[in-house]
Amino acid sequence: MRTGEQYRKGLAKLKDNVYMNGKLVSRDDPVQEGAVNVMAATFDYALDPEFKGIGTAKSHLTGETVNRFTHIHHSMEDLLNKQKMTRLFSQELGGCVARCMGIDATNALSVVTYEADQKYGTEYNKRFLNWLKRVQKEDVACVCGQTDVKGNRPWRPHQQKDPSLYVRVIEKTKDGIIVEGAKAHNSFSSCVDEDIIIPTRHLTDEDKDWAVAFSVPADAEGMTLINAAFSPPKRKKLQAPYSKMGATHSITVFDKCFVPWERVFMCGEPEFAGKLALLFALFHRHSYTGCKAALSEIMLGATALAADYNGIANAQHVRHKLADMISVVELIYAAGIAAGVNHTVAPSGTYVPDTNYCNVGRMLAGESIYEEYMDLAAIAGGLSATLPPEADFENPKTKDMLNRYIMRNPDVSTEDTHRAFRLFQDIMASHWGGHKLIDALHGGGSPVIEKVGIYRDFNLDHSKNIAKRLAGIKTDANDPKGELNRLTHAFI
Ligand SMILES: Cc1cc2nc3c(=O)[nH]c(=O)nc-3n(C[C@H](O)[C@H](O)[C@H](O)COP(=O)(O)OP(=O)(O)OC[C@H]3O[C@@H](n4cnc5c(N)ncnc54)[C@H](O)[C@@H]3O)c2cc1C
Repeated sequence: MRTGEQYRKGLAKLKDNVYMNGKLVSRDDPVQEGAVNVMAATFDYALDPEFKGIGTAKSHLTGETVNRFTHIHHSMEDLLNKQKMTRLFSQELGGCVARCMGIDATNALSVVTYEADQKYGTEYNKRFLNWLKRVQKEDVACVCGQTDVKGNRPWRPHQQKDPSLYVRVIEKTKDGIIVEGAKAHNSFSSCVDEDIIIPTRHLTDEDKDWAVAFSVPADAEGMTLINAAFSPPKRKKLQAPYSKMGATHSITVFDKCFVPWERVFMCGEPEFAGKLALLFALFHRHSYTGCKAALSEIMLGATALAADYNGIANAQHVRHKLADMISVVELIYAAGIAAGVNHTVAPSGTYVPDTNYCNVGRMLAGESIYEEYMDLAAIAGGLSATLPPEADFENPKTKDMLNRYIMRNPDVSTEDTHRAFRLFQDIMASHWGGHKLIDALHGGGSPVIEKVGIYRDFNLDHSKNIAKRLAGIKTDANDPKGELNRLTHAFI
């Protein structure tokens, strides 16, 4: 396993292919320092004795201890520990753990490459496992580019005016494939060693050239990252852990990018493209039951702190709001636990979480976030928007006035009051905060997509039979009374 420092040194060696703010930048550009800090933490936390057994796992391939972000789930405990790790690390970082895309894509590939090989006699799984052994040994940081830029939304890839609006294979050679196209919202791609590319949707036989999955070094020839970097506003004096973090998202462009066969994990099997897309989304939504539980708890903690500092913690409306917020935290996390307990085991041996429990947990998280912002804003009051800049707390002319007049609860010091409201401002009223709000809604799949899955995977006829029985209407004799409603659409 690597340390955060070793990861940073590796990152510095990558060739420059990242464009930001109109120019080509190197990986150590200060604008993405926050995002690199997040990624580095995933290495250091794995080695931190306080997180013993959480950030590491035993590889099913080599028996070696590996960073859990490179591990394939081989037990229920693995699923539960992945969720717990995601929550604990997200709490430490104040949000996204960044490396979940890598673990979720590799777990999905472990299942689908195996099944494709069983059906077609291909060697995707062998290639994938060889690649994975190196990823585990060298503790490679990976992310996943799934979301294509997609052009006109209702059209399939082969129907688009420009066929490269979905990433596709434009040529096959004896050594590999050449790909073209672009992935959108590719989080932390400018801060990792490798980018795993997978299809974003169900594909038909006419979409064969788009049924492609592979991994490339993040500085591969023919790959350009057009990057947007975000972080909470920089502080001068009032340093805080939250303001040291950040995120990046790129439009990742493949312009005749060559991928050697040993890195190609799907090429021309559309029936497995949709399965890979959905399976990645499923593992990813399971991760979200960890990180979004953390995010909701951060919102809860901030709201409770605001109530304390405003001296209104005992007001009944405040207690009711906090109870609602606690319920959301607990339900999101509970959904992930239920999904882990109610797993299935794929023929590859990979443990797969339950689809409906993952979907309801992720949907609740996505839909609650705007309410959580509203609760914090309502209880913190307007100062979280209008707090004067840090420099005014330093200027001898204004410093004492501000310290005197931001005071609320006499039991809380001026500095702590300032710190708390600075945090609320960073969370809600900054460039960073606005971006996090949309991230929480759409990242991992918009709630509407989860609704499609939830509706599809629940046996409504069983529910209707319950109502029919109670109404005295004749029910379907084959519908078992002695079983709880379960999936109609098993993933495996
Ligand atoms: C901050 C952030 C980070 C992200 N990180 C990653 C990442 O690391 N990797 C990755 O692969 N993805 C990532 N995503 C992508 C995320 O999964 C997508 O944003 C999400 O799936 C929605 O896709 P979209 O943004 O293209 O929205 P759109 O597809 O443009 O959706 C916009 C609206 O159109 C509707 N719509 C779309 N298609 C149809 C249709 N055919 N018929 C009817 N309605 C339709 C949608 O339901 C939605 O309401 C990230 C997103 C964000 C915001």
